[in-house]
Amino acid sequence: MPDIPSWRNGARELTKSFFPNVKVTFEGVADLVIQVTHESDNIVITARCDQQELMQETYWKSGKPVDSNEFKGFFYRFISCLAGHTLPWGSLTGIKPVKIAHEFLLNHHQNADQALKDFQDQYFVSTEKAKLALSIAKNEMTIIYPNDSKKVSLYIGVPICPAKCSYCSFVSTVADKKGQLCADYLQALLIEIKAFAQLLCERHLVVDTLYIGGGTPSIFSEEQLEKLLEMVTSEFDLSGIREFTFEAGRPETTTYEKLKLLKRYHVNRLCLNPQSMNDATLSAVGRLHTAEDIRNVYRMIRTVGFDCVNMDLIVGLNEESPEMVLSSLQQVIQLHPENLTVHSLAIKKGSRLREEEGCQYEQIFSKDFYDEISKCLNRSGYHPYYLYRQKYAQGNGENIGYCLSDNEGIYNILMMAERQTIIGIGAGATGKVYEPQQNRINKVYTVKDIRTYNMRSEEIIAKKIKAYQQYLEKI
Ligand code: SF4
Repeated sequence: MPDIPSWRNGARELTKSFFPNVKVTFEGVADLVIQVTHESDNIVITARCDQQELMQETYWKSGKPVDSNEFKGFFYRFISCLAGHTLPWGSLTGIKPVKIAHEFLLNHHQNADQALKDFQDQYFVSTEKAKLALSIAKNEMTIIYPNDSKKVSLYIGVPICPAKCSYCSFVSTVADKKGQLCADYLQALLIEIKAFAQLLCERHLVVDTLYIGGGTPSIFSEEQLEKLLEMVTSEFDLSGIREFTFEAGRPETTTYEKLKLLKRYHVNRLCLNPQSMNDATLSAVGRLHTAEDIRNVYRMIRTVGFDCVNMDLIVGLNEESPEMVLSSLQQVIQLHPENLTVHSLAIKKGSRLREEEGCQYEQIFSKDFYDEISKCLNRSGYHPYYLYRQKYAQGNGENIGYCLSDNEGIYNILMMAERQTIIGIGAGATGKVYEPQQNRINKVYTVKDIRTYNMRSEEIIAKKIKAYQQYLEKI
């Protein structure tokens, strides 16, 4: 294989997509060897097993240098013949297929047929997935445009949780009993919020959407939560805001008083995440609540008067059967949240399932089952409004956000479309500064370790502000 990092990455990702449990290496001996040679006018790919040739294909170059997408297309066609099947998302291995569909729609002035043809010709995506991505891309246009470079979205992260879920690979830290971690983190977070409020003011930027996520932000006490909300609403001008989301994800951290506070500070979208409505599953994956707790908090949320609620479910937890997943889905649908997000379990590095229990990727659910989920949601009035893929997800599947009519989660769409600047505040929060002239995203990262963030907050925040300043100057 030529020593071209983007080609190697593409080959690795596609091989893992076709053969999820194999180890891919570019050196040494292996049962199956795939050799790629790069001549001046062609690329030859050969598969050998025990020195015996299984297959060889030659791909002729178009005259221009072969870019990583073209190479991935060659490699996909080869490995697809070798495996004897295709992949629903073709040669696309990235997490944002809708963003690509979006580009095709723009290139063809929203002509869906032309966009569909190009999408499939270039990436070998199945008709069904290509149509799904294009329909989501088309619907989200009214939310993304007109995009004004003076509008930004804010993400405030609270990477602290009451306990660790077994499938979690996120850098969330479990809170200590005395509450010191939350207290220290809030102190640092307030400094950062103030610093960014000043930056936005200096650059005449206005807040379009605000998302307080985690982790579990509802882990803060009422008093801490009020300090946070007071700082956010007094420092930033939120007069033109389209959406203010708060993740009250785990019901055991949510009280009636906290919900009233959130309502008082104008939160207008709340997340409450059951993941499953099966108590045995919840206990097995380390959640500290039951399905009944979810129902109780949901009732409180409605009593307080929130009219947009998102609920998350995960397909593939604790070897649940399709019937168990569908039962959870039905129970959540009966509650009638405005948004319902269906995730495919992804067993990533860092999760307890992978690190301690050695769990690998397993393809448990069929395509028919995912179709059943989608039909069930459609029958109940939900349509897909955003989609992203995860590496190592069950059945090479995707995460799909569904919503009732006119209830799209705006921040989710903007974050995936990458056509607006997102400011990431807090430990582990990644920001994306959008440069419209170049249609380019510049990412700004924050240290993930919360204790390092707490201890060195002033220095970390100063560096971050500088990085944002540099990128914002280009807009
Ligand atoms: S609530 Fe979310 S962030 Fe917290 S441990 Fe569970 S999966 Fe991880």
